[in-house]
Amino acid sequence: MKCKKCGYDSKNNRKKFDVFLCEICFSFSPDEKPVFDKYVNEKIDTAVLETFRLYSKNLREKQKQGMIQKAVKGNLMSRAPLGYKILGGKLIPAENSKEIEEIFEEFLNEEKSLRNLAEKHRLSVNGLKKVLKNFTYIGKIKFNNQIYGGEHQPLISTTLFNHVQNKLEKKGIK
Ligand SMILES: [Zn+2]
Repeated sequence: MKCKKCGYDSKNNRKKFDVFLCEICFSFSPDEKPVFDKYVNEKIDTAVLETFRLYSKNLREKQKQGMIQKAVKGNLMSRAPLGYKILGGKLIPAENSKEIEEIFEEFLNEEKSLRNLAEKHRLSVNGLKKVLKNFTYIGKIKFNNQIYGGEHQPLISTTLFNHVQNKLEKKGIK
């Protein structure tokens, strides 16, 4: 049965309050019914959790739980990051994927304020910061404070990403 929260289909999915959940969604599910219902209705895409399923395969149960909890609490991505879309359970470049490189280039090369740059790309300042620090764009995945190689296509070069990180740091932008 498919997980009602993320759609992941596995025979290991378990039932709680008459609802099927995958291992990951199950491990986070609240125990009080009203909170539980709300939790289940906040859908999450199965692709988001795919990385954790892959990396956690070889871990002991306890490590696994810890890692998954941190990752999901860290709110990795509840949907595809700007510039990507999720198709067939995979992260692939979206129609607007070129915009990501533009944003990085503009931040690096133009002396625009974060606010101006954010407005230009219809982002909030916080959203813009998230974009500029997102390891997804160089094909990696960050969780549990570690960087892992992802399986998706990068949208920018590592060099550009690193230059932007340096500039963020120099400007004290957190
Ligand atoms: Zn699930």
